[in-house]
Amino acid sequence: MPDKPDRNAIEVVNVSKIFGSGEGQVAALDKVSVSIRENEFFTLLGPSGCGKTTLLRLIAGFDFPSAGEILLYGQDIAPLPPFKRPVNTVFQSYALFPHMTVADNIGFGLEMLGKPKAEIAARVAQMLKLVKMETLSNRRTSQISGGQQQRVALARALAPQPKVLLLDEPLSALDYKLRKEMQIELKRLQHETGITFIFVTHDQEEALTMSDRIAVMSSGKILQVGAPRDIYDRPAERFVADFIGETNFLEGTVVSKKSGVATVKLASGATVAAGFPENFDPSGAVTVVVRPEHADLIADVSKSTVSGTLANVVYFGTDTHYHVKLDGGDNFIVRYQNSRSGAVTFETGAKVGIVFEDDGARILRD
Ligand code: ATP
Repeated sequence: MPDKPDRNAIEVVNVSKIFGSGEGQVAALDKVSVSIRENEFFTLLGPSGCGKTTLLRLIAGFDFPSAGEILLYGQDIAPLPPFKRPVNTVFQSYALFPHMTVADNIGFGLEMLGKPKAEIAARVAQMLKLVKMETLSNRRTSQISGGQQQRVALARALAPQPKVLLLDEPLSALDYKLRKEMQIELKRLQHETGITFIFVTHDQEEALTMSDRIAVMSSGKILQVGAPRDIYDRPAERFVADFIGETNFLEGTVVSKKSGVATVKLASGATVAAGFPENFDPSGAVTVVVRPEHADLIADVSKSTVSGTLANVVYFGTDTHYHVKLDGGDNFIVRYQNSRSGAVTFETGAKVGIVFEDDGARILRD
């Protein structure tokens, strides 16, 4: 992948959006600030109702912030109506014109802009090729599959060459296999066009596989922004750790710390080295997270960090999850890839020990 430039395409500065008034007031966005770089595949990830669509609608100009501002390449876009913004949107529902052909749908935005016919034809042909729909250009969009409609919606949104493309859960209507295909396809389109994509999803796996960076949202706030690996390996808060992937939580007390690593005494009496977020000074009682693939099961309980009884073994095809009831009562999951050598051979009911891999434990911010 070529290096992404550091210029910001969009800057959201202290933006709030309040709906309703009095008792029924809802802060859909609460002082949100985030910068989205040019040519970036940026994802807003969070559960239903966290404010993702609201933020997209403000960037598109379908609605206005209650406070704060949104800059496009450094310019405040508040005075620009949606059609004057170099921003286009792909909706979950696609919003295609069913009575029009694939080609006419793709050319629609350009017609509205009053572009010359020859330019429209050339651009439509280019877009048909980009989304691999050349052979269906004369079909009505009511006569093509859901996956094909999705491609047409993308081509139509890309045709006017927007600087920023907003995508609001565009894959949610597709079945699992098609969805996986379109994830790769979308990534390719972003890469080939170099357009900044702002993608909304509540699906953490989708966010991890597609994005250059992810903003994790909850209750109208952005909790953490980072590359997929940062967010997964170094979640800063409990919500982020819990929402993205599976996580084990253990309570403990900080006994000492130096250069980004703390020694934490767990309830089991064992001490572990745990990293912690930047600009955070852990002390006293803390929560430690350990991803299930960063822990190992061992038979020799005396050498373990925590121990318990193997309660359940769940087979997932590619990997197996071992559910351990810890001696202190908490649950802990250890995950092994099934292809990994040295297969685990513990039976349900066995007494097992668990050790953490180096760098496997992290402290969350309060
Ligand atoms: P989903 O994934 O379900 O689409 P979301 O994260 O996109 O959710 P938003 O649609 O942005 O969430 O909604 C954020 C909050 O604002 C919710 O509590 C929602 O009910 C509220 N909300 C959104 N639009 C309006 C509106 N026009 N009037 C009143 N409340 C609204």
